[in-house]
Amino acid sequence: MKTIGILGGMSAASTQTYYRQLCELTRQRLGGLHSPELLIRSLDFARIEQLQASGQWAAAGEILNREAHALARGADFIVLATNTMHKLAETMMKDVAVPLLHIADATAERIVASGLRAPGLIATAFTMEQQFYRQRLETAGLQPLIPANDDRARVHQIIYDELCKDITTAASREAFVQVAERLVAQGADCMILGCTEVGMLLNQGNVSVPVFDTTLIHCEAALALALTP
Ligand code: GLU
Repeated sequence: MKTIGILGGMSAASTQTYYRQLCELTRQRLGGLHSPELLIRSLDFARIEQLQASGQWAAAGEILNREAHALARGADFIVLATNTMHKLAETMMKDVAVPLLHIADATAERIVASGLRAPGLIATAFTMEQQFYRQRLETAGLQPLIPANDDRARVHQIIYDELCKDITTAASREAFVQVAERLVAQGADCMILGCTEVGMLLNQGNVSVPVFDTTLIHCEAALALALTP
């Protein structure tokens, strides 16, 4: 089994899901006492969020690159446990000796294989509004749809003010359900939970179209790669 290097803490709430999910999937696949070979580096998200909010992406990229080099000393490949920070994937992986398992590629592959084409994208404002993520989906042949202005602002606020602090409320769940349904009304034929915390509020039980949870897909893809000889 290969060792998966997880660069997480962005936020810590979702890195816990990665750990739990990878352990569960490994048990299902291999049985017995098997558990995944992991190296988890969890950053202080307050420091990262400050750099995001103030637009200091170059400084954030330097941090990620330093951490990726450190992980590469013990891991066979790297999983960056946040969609948003994939904005910096190239900088992060500069001169790093092991590959990155890109969260958007793993997700796009799954949607394309399902024959769906127009995913709604629920994520941070960075991920919904900038090109780095949507373009990756478009390159895979998908036509992502994003929520309207007000919905994007509300989703972004709930992610940072609540989900990243491990807080879930019924009101925010209902707000997310409504955002998802407005995307379906716009023509979305499936839904990308494009932030690693969104699965805390949305799932196949409360969205009317097929749901693609990037966290779960990323974990499945990571385990598949780890078990590839
Ligand atoms: N975990 C989130 C994501 O998947 C948001 C936190 C961050 O900005 O990294 O985008």
